[in-house]
Amino acid sequence: MTKPNSLSQIIADPSCMNDYDPNSMPVNKARQFIKQFLSPVAEVETLPLCESLGRILSADIVSPADVPNYDNSAMDGYAFNAADVQVEAATTLKIIGTAFAGSAFNGNVAYGECVRIMTGGMLPVSTDSVIMQEKTAVMDDLLTFTETVKPGSNVRYAGEDLKQGQVVLAAGHMMQAADLGLIASLGISNVSVYRKLKIAFFSTGDELVGIGKPLLTGQVYDSNRYSIFGMLSHLGVETIDLGAIPDNPDFLESTLLSAAEQADVVITSGGVSVGEADYMKLLLAKHGQVVFWKIAMKPGRPLAYGKVGNAHYFGLPGNPVAVMVTFYQFVREALLTLMGQSNQAPLPIFNVVCTENIKKICGRTEFQRGILFPDTDGTWKVKPTGNQGSAILSSMSQANCFIVLHEALGNIEAGSIVPVQVLKGII
Ligand code: AMP
Ligand code: MG
Repeated sequence: MTKPNSLSQIIADPSCMNDYDPNSMPVNKARQFIKQFLSPVAEVETLPLCESLGRILSADIVSPADVPNYDNSAMDGYAFNAADVQVEAATTLKIIGTAFAGSAFNGNVAYGECVRIMTGGMLPVSTDSVIMQEKTAVMDDLLTFTETVKPGSNVRYAGEDLKQGQVVLAAGHMMQAADLGLIASLGISNVSVYRKLKIAFFSTGDELVGIGKPLLTGQVYDSNRYSIFGMLSHLGVETIDLGAIPDNPDFLESTLLSAAEQADVVITSGGVSVGEADYMKLLLAKHGQVVFWKIAMKPGRPLAYGKVGNAHYFGLPGNPVAVMVTFYQFVREALLTLMGQSNQAPLPIFNVVCTENIKKICGRTEFQRGILFPDTDGTWKVKPTGNQGSAILSSMSQANCFIVLHEALGNIEAGSIVPVQVLKGII
């Protein structure tokens, strides 16, 4: 794909890009396309360490010291100098003191001597090895090795985990539980992170009714806003819920403009497929630069991406499953990039045996909802949830993975190996 200069150039003249067909856009190409318009939010803030969980570092964390800070024992045992002794069973050494974690032994350890040492205790000067207590016998102040031990055993060396001046976590890293501990191990109490991304979202459709109200014939409850809220909340962004907006050009226009003014990203569901009242398309053409695609995928064929004012815009399909699939395949990674995450790995994909036949049409990527389960033979296998219709939201609740069936594939036979994209822990 050649790189266009701007969205407006593509909208005005789609032929400016090689191999670009908005009516049959492959999943990966759509992802790549969106990527070129994304860069992280500029503003950063400094937070107390614990509040940075789930946030993205805006500056490298550099180790101010070696970790560990000093050579110490990995075991409860006895510290000795390997050069001073015959390191073999039946070696006998005199115990001259004790080194506790947090309370060092400060004396000299001479030839033929050793020091009782606890896990984490600082290695006394002129010792270089530790024999674990289970491999020794003690009689009064005399220690006898009951097994051979290698020189240098059971020592955790200064700087073995982290060296002073080393970049411990790079800018662009999303803070996880282990990172809180890691940064605490350096004695650092505040970290610099990108500010939270603000996402405004609303549903569109005359048929939509808010929960808590009675449902009349021909109406459906607006479920998309709730699944979108859930998916956004897992990403740790700030959400602005603008409600369900009927297919009315004035309401849609004012909501779209207010969304774009308040937020970094605007997400809508419904109203971007062919045959819609087309208000959204007209409004997006009037106020933004937005491309409309038919993606070669199921579910989730219609998708719109672009800018409205300074805000990025994602127009998701209306069908509830399609909303979730397109969010995971396109929006999630785009938001992570805007949040500042670098070196993003795609959602992990594993190959497993599928235990049932699957009907599949060539020429489009299908994201079937699947259940990964441990089989009686001890391996994990996958089976599709039942009905795969793009309005069957219960399939998303049952699923713990997508079975990702690539464009070129046709029907799948039970026993075939299929790629699965694990959702547990992500949704
Ligand atoms: P649309 O893309 O607007 O043509 O909508 C496609 C289908 O999704 C229709 O059956 C809609 O009723 C349904 N739909 C659209 N928006 C929502 C929503 N927010 N919650 C539940 N269903 C929806
Ligand atoms: Mg609609």
